[in-house]
Amino acid sequence: MDLFAGFDLGGSRLKYGLVDTRGEVIFHRHVETPGNRGDLLSLMAECWERLSRTHGPIHSAGIGLPGIFSDDRKRILHSPHCPFIEEFDWNAACAGILGVPFVLDNEANLAAYGEFRAGAGGESRCLILLTLGSGIGTGIIMGGEIWRGACGAAAELGHMPVNPDGALCACGNRGCLETEVSAGRIVELYRELSDDQAVGSCRDVGRRALEGDPSARRAMERAGSSLGRAIAVVINLLNPDTILLGGGVMESSGFVLGPAREQAKRHSLKAAFDCCSIQPAALGNRAGFIGAALYAGNVFAPD
Ligand SMILES: [Zn+2]
Repeated sequence: MDLFAGFDLGGSRLKYGLVDTRGEVIFHRHVETPGNRGDLLSLMAECWERLSRTHGPIHSAGIGLPGIFSDDRKRILHSPHCPFIEEFDWNAACAGILGVPFVLDNEANLAAYGEFRAGAGGESRCLILLTLGSGIGTGIIMGGEIWRGACGAAAELGHMPVNPDGALCACGNRGCLETEVSAGRIVELYRELSDDQAVGSCRDVGRRALEGDPSARRAMERAGSSLGRAIAVVINLLNPDTILLGGGVMESSGFVLGPAREQAKRHSLKAAFDCCSIQPAALGNRAGFIGAALYAGNVFAPD
């Protein structure tokens, strides 16, 4: 059975693995993301060597990169969270490392493709994945294809302006959805609401919410409400049948989903809302490499 490799580069971790033609994960691992491009390329070469040595011939590979990826130029045009990957010839570099056919894309696009093919995507005709973590990743799958827009910059809901007086975002604007709903903002909200400055992570806030801490619940619910209003815009614009919510924020608390659904319903058109399912994503942080591998398998479909 053919095997496909997937790489998913994030700000803190490089996740990679092998997936077979049925979408089953054969192997997966993660390593820390190095702080510069040279070390990253050496690390990818090591990972590839390990995959090839332990599992034999690999049919093709997909590589997900964090940032706006230009399919025409095969370059990352802008990467707020990983600037050292910008304006570099990834096509040539990956050709030197891999030696099999490969695809490059934005990691959130590939994560959405992973959910579409092997996760909670079902028979969706228009699926949107929002990944809530230190930032917000977005991927759109329409008619089974990744929707990239004119130059690869589509599906960046995290940078939708929602609060003119909000915090400065990594993209350079102020009050983006990403700054209002991210893990870091939830920690800040909790500190404001509770006067407890000791809480260190969104996971801690999630745990406190589960234990009944009203400030923790309120912080999660406020983030969920902001997210829900943004989802209403997406519903009215694209009329999707499936919106999936994933990422560390969703995993650390169930208190985001309810308010998100409620506000999405309140602010979107009834007809569009009624045919849209808003639910948790299924593949967790494996969606990116699984989607990368399956997308490569699709582009370079074996005979
Ligand atoms: Zn932004």
